[in-house]
Amino acid sequence: MTNIVNLFASPESPRDDSSREKSPTGKSMGEVFLVGAGPGDPELITVKAMRLLQQADAIVYDRLANPVLLDYARKHCDLIYVGKKKDQHSLPQDQICALLAALAGCGKKVVRLKGGDPFIFGRGGEEVEHLAEQGISCTIVPGITAAIGCAATTQIPLTHRDHAHAVTFITGHRQHGKMYINWDLALQKDSTVVFYMGLSNLQEITSELIARGCPVDKPFAVVAQGTAKAQQVLVGTVTDIAEKLARHPLPSPALLIMGDVINANGYAQHLADLTSAARPQASEILEVI
Ligand code: SAH
Repeated sequence: MTNIVNLFASPESPRDDSSREKSPTGKSMGEVFLVGAGPGDPELITVKAMRLLQQADAIVYDRLANPVLLDYARKHCDLIYVGKKKDQHSLPQDQICALLAALAGCGKKVVRLKGGDPFIFGRGGEEVEHLAEQGISCTIVPGITAAIGCAATTQIPLTHRDHAHAVTFITGHRQHGKMYINWDLALQKDSTVVFYMGLSNLQEITSELIARGCPVDKPFAVVAQGTAKAQQVLVGTVTDIAEKLARHPLPSPALLIMGDVINANGYAQHLADLTSAARPQASEILEVI
């Protein structure tokens, strides 16, 4: 791991810098790549992201980026953890932005590695904005967001000609004690809703949905540690899913998926079948509707 004293030294093997912009101190400016690591399964990273990891002078990474990916870094690459846990930030966001700018300011090629996709609830927008203000080049490399990864491994199609003509990603996170959910959006007909960061607010989210007219038998799933070997899935309805979760607590990170697609064409049964020996890597299905 990184020795903080060496963090702002010049890159290990300088590239041809002749055409690169100079910082106000005359040093060649580095650049930052906001890179999506994909969800739990490290093989879901893109080829482009992998190449950048292998070339980086510094990798600034999150809690949700699979640490196995760091094995691909160069020998003297700085590996800097800035992960956050709920209500506990190891480094505040403004300091993460400042760190990225400072590393690039020393001429380093910096990979900012984030779980899933940098622009889906990843605060990538704030980092891009800060780097732009500092005149630092920033490139975005997309990643597979958790919803897309979990849809694949659970075989829940987020859209479906007969059941869902739209899909909505909503944050179920509480900020300053308040949830900012657009309930009208969450209750749209013929659509699938995926709540990110909603695990600890599941009871409140489902009660509110029912109070606002959600059909009581609306299929609901919780997918924990999606796409990883340890993936677990809980399937129920908006009415009973919170109670099921209380009986089978699941670890984070977890997604909440609501919509008829879960039950379309017997998918819930299909999910249960996936636990059979026929598919050894299948996720553990705890309960179905
Ligand atoms: N940028 C990320 C999301 C970060 S917000 C992305 O595009 O996926 C963090 C939330 O993402 C978690 O609270 C959880 O709801 C969801 N999440 C991330 N990884 C997940 C995984 N492997 N399985 C289930 N949910 C996940």
